[in-house]
Amino acid sequence: MRYVLSLDQGTTSSRAILFDRLGRACATAQKEFAQHYPQPGWVEHDPQELWSTQVGVMAEALQRAGAGSGDVAAVGVANQRETTLLWDRATGRPVGNAIVWQDRRTADTCTALRERGLEAAFHQKTGLRLDPYFSGTKLAWLLEHTPGARPRAERGELAFGTVDTWLTYKLTGGRLHITDPGNASRTLLYNLHTGAWDNELLGALNIPPGVLPEIRSSSEVYGHVAQGLPAEGAPIASLVGDQQAATMGQLCLRPGMAKNTYGTGCFLLMHTGQSPALSKNKLLTTVAWRRQGVTDYALEGSVFVAGAAIQWLRDGLKLVRTAADIEPLAASVPDTAGVYFVPALTGLGAPHWDPGARGALFGLTRGATDAHLARAALEGVAFQVADVLRAMESDAGIPIPELRVDGGASANNLLLQIQADLLQRPVVRPKVLETTALGAAYLAGLAVGFWSSCDDLSEHAQIDRTFEPHIASEQAEERVAGWQRAVERAKEWA
Ligand code: ADP
Repeated sequence: MRYVLSLDQGTTSSRAILFDRLGRACATAQKEFAQHYPQPGWVEHDPQELWSTQVGVMAEALQRAGAGSGDVAAVGVANQRETTLLWDRATGRPVGNAIVWQDRRTADTCTALRERGLEAAFHQKTGLRLDPYFSGTKLAWLLEHTPGARPRAERGELAFGTVDTWLTYKLTGGRLHITDPGNASRTLLYNLHTGAWDNELLGALNIPPGVLPEIRSSSEVYGHVAQGLPAEGAPIASLVGDQQAATMGQLCLRPGMAKNTYGTGCFLLMHTGQSPALSKNKLLTTVAWRRQGVTDYALEGSVFVAGAAIQWLRDGLKLVRTAADIEPLAASVPDTAGVYFVPALTGLGAPHWDPGARGALFGLTRGATDAHLARAALEGVAFQVADVLRAMESDAGIPIPELRVDGGASANNLLLQIQADLLQRPVVRPKVLETTALGAAYLAGLAVGFWSSCDDLSEHAQIDRTFEPHIASEQAEERVAGWQRAVERAKEWA
């Protein structure tokens, strides 16, 4: 058995990667699928297309590696989180499109739950906020708005799942209806303290328990790939949400270890140990994974606009031609000459949570140039990440000694240097940046003995570059104080 086959079912594409025993990506295949926007604020995916693209790339990756089913020690699944599906248990036919995590159609439901005074109960039990982002209100919407769905659900004929659940159902020819605690912890229906679906929360959202998948661990042999599919007969051995997978792929396995993914936005996760830490700073508490009977927890915070700020400089202002051009432009000046850019283009995420904040530039003088603006944009990303990281440390009461990074914008060396300067601690970029797929592979490989232990994994993990802080802490504090003044002025604008 030469490989672990990792399926990375993201928001815009399905990917499959074969990893060998040294954790190297040996073959990759990727296929995009359609995004549907039926109304403003709505985002949907066709469940059949999620599946067909996923099967397609599985076959393609195997073919590229010249591998057959016999070469696959295990299959691991990483998925876009919170996206909500409902299908007929017997036929596998979806009742409609999947409601994607970005979809805001249930904002009113969340407001209504808040008005009923339920926010505290939801937060205390689930570690989440009442926000349309999570699956619970999306599932309630499907049950309410699909003709005939509610009575069919009451009769046990319908199955709910996030994308991990849907893919496992399809991979096993309809045999399994399961999820992992990490994905379950993003639904608003899972009680962090009992590790099970919560009847009171199900009642609040009017969801019949019969639609729910069984919660298994994140790393075990659940079943095998059905006959006639690529990698037929291979054990399916991990289910893990994409950000949790990246946390595993970065080997953040102990309390205080944290990773940040710099993409369109940023996703920070910090490992907090074996009991859930509830946040006082508007962060989310989530299950990282459960393995060998032990549940690990994490704090999570997201920044809405990170790489998107660079896109805006490129497409909106036409300051640069490509995103990569931002680095030499920003590096052409030694500092921002007092310019601050708060990239709150779509409001502010954690720890501010201000949907009414808007992007703002401060400190402009006649000497300000495109280069200062470019540098201020990179700083604006790094300041937001630093805000989340400090909130995490404060909530968990554990220091974060270094930050591990990945994602498209982590290619920017200057950004990471600025990040290290502001955080006053090392920022570490690994060689394998496919951390999501790698994390799912690790969890699957551990379950079947492809890798013997986490130490085994650490042995071959390779660092590409470590960025050490280059400025004094007083200087960093001064910058942060300026940023805080700027953020306060950008809040509650719209
Ligand atoms: P996502 O998964 O959210 O689509 P990616 O991880 O692919 O995002 O990263 C793409 C984002 O990174 C884009 O927003 C882009 O502007 C930004 N980006 C890519 N390269 C650079 C770079 N060299 N410097 C700064 N930002 C970059």
